[in-house]
Parts: sequence; C-alpha cells; structure tokens
Amino acid sequence: MTNLAMRLEGRTAIITGAASGIGRATALRFAREGAQVVIADIDVSRGEDCAAEIHSAGGEARFVEVDVSLESDLMRMIDCAVTAYGGLDILHNNAFWARGATALDTTADDWQRTIDVTLRPVWQASKLAIPQLMKSKAGVILNTASVHSIVGLTGSAAYQASKGGVLSLTRALSLELAPRIRVVAILPGTIDTPANEQVPEDVHEAFLQKVPLARRGQPEEIASVAAFLASDDAGYITGTAIVVDGGYTTH
Ligand code: NAD
Repeated sequence: MTNLAMRLEGRTAIITGAASGIGRATALRFAREGAQVVIADIDVSRGEDCAAEIHSAGGEARFVEVDVSLESDLMRMIDCAVTAYGGLDILHNNAFWARGATALDTTADDWQRTIDVTLRPVWQASKLAIPQLMKSKAGVILNTASVHSIVGLTGSAAYQASKGGVLSLTRALSLELAPRIRVVAILPGTIDTPANEQVPEDVHEAFLQKVPLARRGQPEEIASVAAFLASDDAGYITGTAIVVDGGYTTH
C-alpha cells in the first residue's frame, strides 16, 4: 500500500519559481513527502529561505539561482539536480512573468518577456531534462498553466497566450514522451500568492463573485494536487489538465 505521507521518497524534483507562492508551497510539500528538491528561482533571498525552511523541517533541498529565460541557467539547474542527487524524476515548470495589459496596450517588449519566461522555458527545460527523466522509473513533467489557458479575461493578453501554449505543449509532450514520462498541467484559479497582491480589490471582488467556493485558493491547495500528480497515485494520468479553481470555470 502506498505510504501517503512519503509518496515521493527518494525522488528528485526541480521546481522553477519555487521561492514564492505556489512553487514554494509545492517545494515544502514535495520535501515533506520525501523528495529531494531543487529550488530554482531568480529571487536569491526568498529561494534560500525556502531551502532553509525545508532543512529545518528535516527535509532535503538546495537553491539554485536561475533565470528560466536563459538556456545556460536551465542547463545549470538540471546539472545541479544530477550532481547533488544523481538524477531527476520530476520537473515542475512553474515560474512566470506577466504585466497586466490588454492586447492593445501590450508592448512588444512585454509580449516577448512574457513568452520568454512563461512559455519558452516550459519547452526548453523539458527538452534539457528529458534525457535524465528517461532514466527515471517514474519521470513526470508538471506544468503550472492557468484557468486562463481555457477561459478568457480582459487585461492579460500575453499571459493568456502563454498559458494557452503551456496547455497545448503539455499535450504535445505527453504524446511524444509516453509511455516513459507523464506530462500533466495544473490549472489554478485565483490563488492567494504574492503574484496577486497588485490586483486591485474591486477586480478581486468581481472575480470572487464567479467562484462558487467564494474564496481564493491557498498555495497549499495547489501543492497537494501537484504532489498527487507527481506520485505513482497518478500513474495513469498524462496529457491532461487538472483544474483547481473553486468552481470558477463551471460557469
Ligand atoms: P509568485 O509571484 O508567488 O511566484 C512566482 C515565482 O517565479 C517568484 O518566486 C519569482 O521570483 C519567480 N520568477 C519570476 N521570473 C523568473 C525567472 N525569469 N526565472 C526564474 N524564476 C522567476 O506567483 P504564483 O502565484 O505562485 O505563480 C506560480 C505559477 O502559478 C505561475 O505559473 C502562475 O502563472 C500560475 N498561476 C497563479 C495563479 C494565482 O492566482 N496565483 C493563478 C493561475 C496560475
């Protein structure tokens, strides 16, 4: 029988954007379930804090400073997992960058940065990780997409284009990598993370009107789904997306 508390024992996971929010909660959860976690983020101080918190709880983690838009950094990130832990079992592509703007107000530079941080690394990190994941008995790629991969919203055109791409790429990769590596997307609704701190209160309230569970989700509620998807409990799930949105997309 699966030991629910330690489903990821002995596995090595890389999580991008793990210094904050959903990535951080997922790093803590994966470590609690027995994984060795590589925390990859551009934010050194919060990334090191996350690793320290895992260590103080008796887990295993290390921080690596990574800008996911740079191929050389992604290569270093994979090397870090292999050198420190001897391989790689789970890649969680989770980092993002976005500036709220309609399509009309989006600049070419902001469009490019959004794609370079939010979409392209999902392909590039996966490409670089595939040889290592192929050696694992339980290789998994998790991609944090968004409910806005499947439903629209005004004011974040480049972000939504990126997240639509993340979902399509999840399907493409799942077919190319089956049966050796599972590839799954998580589609969060509105989650209580620093990314949402700049959202004006009226926009937040209007959004919550459409959430049947009438609250923001907590990052830990995404982390628990990520841990399930990364584990053998989800061994027959690939090429699809799990929506975690308090019912938002039911309408
Ligand atoms: P967050 O701002 O708390 O964390 C994002 C992390 O990404 C930060 O630690 C940041 O330093 C890191 N990052 C940014 N640019 C980077 C780069 N170039 N290289 C490496 N790291 C970089 O945000 P969050 O809400 O936890 O978002 C995590 C994921 O969840 C994102 O993919 C986001 O699109 C998705 N998501 C979030 C929500 C939500 O409501 N919070 C909803 C849907 C989807």
